[in-house]
Amino acid sequence: MGLACLSLPDSYESFEEFMADTLEAARRWALAQKRLFEQGKRPTLKELCDGLMASRQQLLGDLLQAQIRALAPELLHQEFAECPRCHRTVHRKRYEPKEISTLHGVLRLARPYFYCSPCGHGFYPIDEALGIAAQRHQYDVQEAITVGAARVPYEEAADLMRRFSGVSASGHFAHRTLTAVAEAATLDLVIPSREEIERRIQQATGPSGHKPVLVATADGAKVPTRPKAKRNEKRGKGDCKECRGLRLYLLDPNDEIIPIASWHQIQNAAAFRQDVARIAERIPQDKVRICLLGDGADWLWQALKEAFPGAREILDFFHCFEHLHVVARAQFGEKSLDGHQWAEMMMIRLADGAVLTAMRSLLGMKPRDANAKEEIRKLVGYLDGQAKRLHYIEDLREGFPIGSGAIESANKFICHVRMKRSGAWWVEETGNDVLRIRCALYNGTYDRVFEHYMVSQGRGAQFIDQGGVG
Ligand SMILES: [Zn+2]
Repeated sequence: MGLACLSLPDSYESFEEFMADTLEAARRWALAQKRLFEQGKRPTLKELCDGLMASRQQLLGDLLQAQIRALAPELLHQEFAECPRCHRTVHRKRYEPKEISTLHGVLRLARPYFYCSPCGHGFYPIDEALGIAAQRHQYDVQEAITVGAARVPYEEAADLMRRFSGVSASGHFAHRTLTAVAEAATLDLVIPSREEIERRIQQATGPSGHKPVLVATADGAKVPTRPKAKRNEKRGKGDCKECRGLRLYLLDPNDEIIPIASWHQIQNAAAFRQDVARIAERIPQDKVRICLLGDGADWLWQALKEAFPGAREILDFFHCFEHLHVVARAQFGEKSLDGHQWAEMMMIRLADGAVLTAMRSLLGMKPRDANAKEEIRKLVGYLDGQAKRLHYIEDLREGFPIGSGAIESANKFICHVRMKRSGAWWVEETGNDVLRIRCALYNGTYDRVFEHYMVSQGRGAQFIDQGGVG
């Protein structure tokens, strides 16, 4: 694909033509500026910029057209082509005009169209050679609007694009394009490759050669969803569903975070478990010291433990200590000094791994009322289940983190800011499309996702053209 693979016409003549076309485009633009000299008032810089914004699509579109004319003349005037299906030589049937919208302007190309009668196959060799999208808005526009729509609502993304580039696309186009690109955003592409992950581990290893800490942490967030409904059909009842997120990162020798991957989807626990297992396959587990970090939710521990067997388990200290404070308030009253001291004593015990001692003292407490009794009972149950994850002092000594703030900030950044906008209700599939693109942007894999999208579109383009959409 692209101009590079052509045997370029190495004639001086075509460059001369290119120069002439370019100057002609500039001349046309300059002529259109004439009114500035006739209005009797000196324009401000802002007025000049606004004028340029309005005219740049035309000017740059002309320049782009000049480049294509000079660099691909044989494609624009191609008379014979090989049918991609039967390899017969086919004569050009006609020229078909196509309006092409790019971030730099609109141009019109008359593309040679070929039709192979025995195969019943019509095709445009220039589309494949130059990577022209079947849609009117080309891939640079599609790439930009998808990034925009992953960050802000579709209509806003379209509005920003209009303001910054002059390209008029609708919110509906933003939605449709994001959905199509998201189809290419599979887990395999959104998660960095094993080679890339090894490179980041190498970077975190440092000169001493000590294995770096790899943190695997998971968390859930509630996303408002509603069932899919056709246009004009009554929308079904909304419902909050769990968006489950995984975040993997490394700690380098200076305790700086090197992100590896984030993966967030609205999905059930079983699907999440499968995804985590697949992501874990990319990690060379013998080259890192792995710790699993999370709150008390069973589904996340199940997934993490299965994918990273033998890893160190750490209960997020903030969630753990929060439970202590609930009991302190129930037993000693709001903001009481006794309660404060009791919670502090418990924290120290738990941090030191003395879970049994802590539980014994809990069981020895005389609850002051039914509510305190209930809260104490819940805390005993909680600590009983989490005992093997409580050893904060040792964790810190060995360089492991004890708080899952990193996944919570990833959750906010990847999930909440786009998914929890006021009044937003998501169809599960659409929400997941947006989440996968957001993860790709965050993981640094969006370019790769978009490449795959273009290749998949290129394959479909012939088919789309036959349907007359070209
Ligand atoms: Zn054929």
